[in-house]
Amino acid sequence: KNSKDSYDELSNLTVAVRVRPMNSKELSHVGASMIVRVQKNELLIRSVPVGAISVGTDHLFQYDHVFWSCDKTGLNYASQEDVFSSLGRPLLANAFQGYNACLFAYGQTGSGKSYSMMGPENDADSSENAGIIPRFCRQLFLQIAELSSSHIANVEVSYFEIYNEKIHDLLAPENGKPRKARPALKVREHPVWGPYVVNLSVHVVQTYEELRSWLLRGNKNRATAATVMNEKSSRSHSIFSIELSLSEKNKEDKSSRRSKVSLVDLAGSERLGSSYNCEEKMKQGVSINKSLLTLGKVISALAEQRKGVQFVPYRESVLTWLLRESLGGNSHTTMLATISPSNAHSDETLSTLRYACQAR
Ligand code: ADP
Repeated sequence: KNSKDSYDELSNLTVAVRVRPMNSKELSHVGASMIVRVQKNELLIRSVPVGAISVGTDHLFQYDHVFWSCDKTGLNYASQEDVFSSLGRPLLANAFQGYNACLFAYGQTGSGKSYSMMGPENDADSSENAGIIPRFCRQLFLQIAELSSSHIANVEVSYFEIYNEKIHDLLAPENGKPRKARPALKVREHPVWGPYVVNLSVHVVQTYEELRSWLLRGNKNRATAATVMNEKSSRSHSIFSIELSLSEKNKEDKSSRRSKVSLVDLAGSERLGSSYNCEEKMKQGVSINKSLLTLGKVISALAEQRKGVQFVPYRESVLTWLLRESLGGNSHTTMLATISPSNAHSDETLSTLRYACQAR
């Protein structure tokens, strides 16, 4: 599939997989090996059961894109820019046409979700290692500038996380209360615009730099919230949303084209499989399960919809309920599954590949 500038009915769902480099821990353990191979949009994985020496099972998967980001010298190496070009640019083009979109990063903790979305160390920088979100935003303002003689644009951003099925604003104005003491935000449904978060702060931004400072602030808040609660941010889903409205200058008709793009860094997928012994953890486990599981169900239902009408279980989790207007219909959904190439994680990797596969 090419990255297209406009939609056709069948291209509303894009599924991609990205393979990160082996890290030093993976390289150093005894019997370390790479079990993933990639050719064009196919991925081959050989899973070796623990304890076995040479026998393994081969599994072949096919996606819209497979990004090999393992070794920079490799012929098919996919850089941050390559990933953005394939996944981010089409969403941006469609946002200017008035279509909503969602992009999800899915995978086990440490597999490269934040690296792909934000860049190294969450710093959302503008260097060559910047991830999809900063690239998307920079490009957004470049294109707005190109249109400025004929159009008026308005850009608003919001950033929140869903932790344990509860919503926390990552850009809330400081109100003196410690973050922990603030009540979680509620979801309501507007008769026309659909589900929304009550009292979520929304910020108008005029430049990329302004947007970037909100992004950095949100990232910082996400990290501190996780520390305060003595948790890893890998347990929460973070949702960065950009609303674009465009209206033509010198036109009687003042109506504007609106679109919303949500860029989502999901909780670590290992939560799906783990079991917990203490009750609080159980609660967390169950609800994170719920959003990830429901997202999987929603996306496969959307894939099925291509073939005929089917019920889509948006309401079963906060994440899918809130993103309803950006999933399905004329919206474009992109799933980027991130994996490690190491035999140390073969079970998690296989489960990620299967999760991503049900969307196709
Ligand atoms: P996650 O968000 O899934 O928990 P991270 O994005 O934090 O994982 O990635 C874990 C580590 O691997 C980080 O140090 C990150 O810089 C590195 N990493 C991940 N993906 C890549 C990649 N494609 N190229 C280089 N380094 C990567």
